[in-house]
Amino acid sequence: MNIFVMMKRTFDTEEKLSIQNGKIVDTDAEYIINPYDEYAIEEAVQLRDVHGGQVTVLTVGDEEAEKELRTALAMGCDQAVLINDEELEDGDQMTTASLIAAYLQDKEFDLVLGGNVAIDGGSGQVGPRVAELLGIVQVTAITELCIENGKAEIVRDVEGDEERLKLDLPLLATAQQGLNEPRYPSLPGIMKAKKKPLYTLDWDELDIDENELETKTETIEVFAKPDKQAGKMLEGELQTQVKELLSLLTSEAKVIS
Ligand SMILES: Cc1cc2nc3c(=O)[nH]c(=O)nc-3n(C[C@H](O)[C@H](O)[C@H](O)COP(=O)(O)OP(=O)(O)OC[C@H]3O[C@@H](n4cnc5c(N)ncnc54)[C@H](O)[C@@H]3O)c2cc1C
Repeated sequence: MNIFVMMKRTFDTEEKLSIQNGKIVDTDAEYIINPYDEYAIEEAVQLRDVHGGQVTVLTVGDEEAEKELRTALAMGCDQAVLINDEELEDGDQMTTASLIAAYLQDKEFDLVLGGNVAIDGGSGQVGPRVAELLGIVQVTAITELCIENGKAEIVRDVEGDEERLKLDLPLLATAQQGLNEPRYPSLPGIMKAKKKPLYTLDWDELDIDENELETKTETIEVFAKPDKQAGKMLEGELQTQVKELLSLLTSEAKVIS
């Protein structure tokens, strides 16, 4: 099986981040593989081990992402591709998806796997957009994937319930928590990863026009959520409390008028 895994390098959301001039300042933050993409990598490696073939991990980002690509190689991917977007101005989900689709359009594959959502940007758009651009079937939030006789048997999470599907390949699927238990890279895995191929290409080496990469969204404002206020205890007679509550809901919280 030929499998591509879309991997995003994200900052660890446990990190302390600040916002300056409408941008997230993440210079001192620790970076990780987007956790949902770890499920995608693990699934790809397990499928390759059963069915043979190769797993390519793919990211759009700058050269700093090589570290996370090497981690994915240490988890068992066979090769890595970095599409360097440093020379591009502001991009959004459509930019990323267009770059990935432009890379994949002339490749042969059975499966494209990715995360259900990135824990930083969090739009959950890249996977479905890539599938649309490539004109292939997409399934989001999968929790089981079994390949038999060239067909994919999939279970997907639908708000706590599950949906079972049987689909032809090729297809794109995004991983939900619970799909598997991602491995930690082993020491031999880390040693092997150093020798595995990691290809870098600049975005303009792809067969895509810069106009097609223009953002489709505009960020109006980026702000941190306000600090949580201490709760207010109402005291006294029940009738007095009700009156005060009504007044607070009207004048302070402004949830009734
Ligand atoms: C040229 C360029 C400039 C950008 N500039 C900015 C900026 O100034 N500010 C800013 O906040 N963001 C910027 N971005 C990032 C962009 O807005 C989104 O963060 C990105 O497109 C992913 O969207 P998301 O985080 O909502 O991912 P989601 O759609 O939630 O991610 C779902 C899945 O898609 C895949 N995926 C997502 N991103 C990538 C990736 N980069 N490579 C491979 N697979 C991926 C992963 O499998 C992931 O689990 C830029 C992107 C590009 C290409």
